Amino acid sequence: MRIFYADQFVLPLPAGHRFPMPKYSALRERVAAVAADRMRVADAASDADLLRVHDAAYVRQVVDGALDAQAMRRIGFPWSQAMVERSRRSAGATIAACRSALESGCGVNLAGGTHHAHAGFGEGFCVFNDAAIAARAMQAEGRAGRVLVLDLDVHQGDGTAAIFAGDDSVFTCSMHGRANFPFRKSASDLDIELDDGTADAPYLAALRVALPRALDRAHPDLVIYLAGADPFEGDRLGRLKVSKRGLAQRDGLVLDLCRHAGIGVAVTMAGGYARRIEDCVDIHFTTVQTAAQMLAR
Ligand SMILES: [Zn+2]
Repeated sequence: MRIFYADQFVLPLPAGHRFPMPKYSALRERVAAVAADRMRVADAASDADLLRVHDAAYVRQVVDGALDAQAMRRIGFPWSQAMVERSRRSAGATIAACRSALESGCGVNLAGGTHHAHAGFGEGFCVFNDAAIAARAMQAEGRAGRVLVLDLDVHQGDGTAAIFAGDDSVFTCSMHGRANFPFRKSASDLDIELDDGTADAPYLAALRVALPRALDRAHPDLVIYLAGADPFEGDRLGRLKVSKRGLAQRDGLVLDLCRHAGIGVAVTMAGGYARRIEDCVDIHFTTVQTAAQMLAR
């Protein structure tokens, strides 16, 4: 199992911006203390990688800094060359995590999960859709025919759902807060909408129903798992009330099922906006630790 990181490619943000940039370096340091030998920096996603998913005009405008003010507001970051590189690196790390998953059973990206990026526009802190880019890359490399994108971030994976609408080779499953962003959702192949305040027991019960259904319908060669930390009860943006223990059980359920089915899983961190940044780091670290314990070879 290899673990890929990209936090040295920092996205410059104005003071007070709510995107939690420091969580990535804190998470990498925490993982490095126990698994430094497994950690790598992945190559940046190439234009060819991006163009399997994104419109050529959009990619050009992102790279050249030519998106208009409205398109940049929708993304929520100020444009910079570093933003482009960071976005390419994060997608590249998910591609690399998928290769690791197919070779060894598991791969991890300590970033990624930018699921609000659509083919022709970015949204909600998402420039390029790393899971979609990685799924397409594995298909192009002949490593995987069928892919399941399992999105357990508290926000619906609308970009991923729209990108793969009508494509039977990639199954999209999203379990998320009904009242959370995005307010206009795209239809995934399987959506599970949870009410505000959903706590551990109903959350895990819904997952126990959804997981086998998704695997059954998807028949995947590879699972890309978005292990969002934002269903957490202490999250500023999420509307669910899942505890750290509940999120650890969630990770265990997902990874155990993949292990039993003999399907490689690429894990990405996705969102996490806890009031205390250490809580996000704890949750993401537990995900990585669970993957290492259950799947590491
Ligand atoms: Zn989220």
